[in-house]
This record gives sequence, structure tokens and C-alpha cells, in this order.
Amino acid sequence: MNRACARPACADLATATFVYDYEARTTWLDGLAGERHPMAYDLCAVHADGLRVPRGWRLVDRRGDARRGDGRLGDGRYADARHGDDRRGDGPRAGALAS
Ligand SMILES: [Zn+2]
Repeated sequence: MNRACARPACADLATATFVYDYEARTTWLDGLAGERHPMAYDLCAVHADGLRVPRGWRLVDRRGDARRGDGRLGDGRYADARHGDDRRGDGPRAGALAS
């Protein structure tokens, strides 16, 4: 089945499908899904490779299962999206006020 890339200005055939979950702040990139899903978006190879996620999200590229040959990604490897951990201090502690 041939589907086109979801990017507006792109007419290439899709080779990958991605889905995302706001709650988990995670995007999963897979090989082209067999069926169209309302929550999934198809992308061509170029746009799949260029896919970026918002800050604090992580991108899980699972195309390694479907693609082979370039040895670029191992199975289930997490893309290097490090989430900016805002460090949570204890907050300023009210010091005991001596009189
Ligand atoms: Zn494209």
C-alpha cells in the first residue's frame, strides 16, 4: 500500500509512521503501519529521519525492527532525547528566626 508523506509540502511515499502520547510525552517512530490510524502520521524517509520532538519529550525510533542493513540503530534503542530535568530542590527553607 502506498501512502504519501503527511508533511504538507512533501509528495514522497511514506516509509514510516509515528504516533505520540501527550501524557507520556513520547513519540514512537515505526516502519510504515499496515493500516491507517487516526492518531498516526505517515512520513517519508527524509522526514522520518528529520523528525524532532518537543523539548522534554523522547523519541523512540523503532524502525530498526523493520529496516535492516545500515546498522544504524539497534532494536528498541532510545533516541538521544534527554529531557531537561528541572532540578527540584527543597526550596528555600525558612530559617528559624532567632530573636
Ligand atoms: Zn516527506
